[in-house]
Amino acid sequence: MPLTIEAVPVLETNYVWALHDGSRCVLVDPGSAAEPLAFLGDNGLELTAILVTHHHRDHTGGLDEILARHEVPVWGPRDERIEQVTHPVGEGGRIEIDQPSLSLTVLETPGHTTSHLMFHDDHHLISGDTLFSIGCGRLFEGTPEQMQASLDKLSRLPDETRIYCGHEYTLDNCRFALQVEPDNTALQARFERVQRLREDGRITLPSTLAEERAANPFLRTRKPEVIEAANQREPGTGKDPAAVFGVIRRWKDG
Ligand SMILES: [Zn+2]
Repeated sequence: MPLTIEAVPVLETNYVWALHDGSRCVLVDPGSAAEPLAFLGDNGLELTAILVTHHHRDHTGGLDEILARHEVPVWGPRDERIEQVTHPVGEGGRIEIDQPSLSLTVLETPGHTTSHLMFHDDHHLISGDTLFSIGCGRLFEGTPEQMQASLDKLSRLPDETRIYCGHEYTLDNCRFALQVEPDNTALQARFERVQRLREDGRITLPSTLAEERAANPFLRTRKPEVIEAANQREPGTGKDPAAVFGVIRRWKDG
């Protein structure tokens, strides 16, 4: 059976991603245990591995309770703050799992945290809190230069890549992005779709890299419209992508 990817909502806004083939399942970023354990039970799925993108509690808080019931490998960053990781991986590393059949490449994406990882194959990107739909993670432990470089690693990935990020933030992100690019028609269209989805209580993910490239200001720091908006916000910013990124990030944090 081909890979199915489902979101298990936990906490306020987090998604635990469940990647499964109908019988075996990999969980990503279990910030809580009860909901993903119930998901496994309700669907008759056997847990075979856990992936972790970064150390924040809302992505790791369920690990101990899940691991007490399921002794499975945990792939994640080399970071002593995540002591449950049994299979540390870094830039260019591979995660090979037999069941469900998964072969993922590891990207190191410092910025949100120093040791944040993303995982991808030709069709999927698990982006944690580095890339959100129409947004990106806050710079808790990194610089605009680091985050710009982290996001630049996505430039090799195809447009069709589907993005599975850590939070349901898309609606708020669209509202902010429209301040940066009020005339962006792709963004306007995404905002309308996202409003309808949220009114119906539905998830806005996955998005695609094509959608993000067209509407996410943090992936558009080389676009004239975004450079112009950044320079209006903070005169003298110039055109350097990391500088533009820094202005947009501060604006959003404002
Ligand atoms: Zn985080």
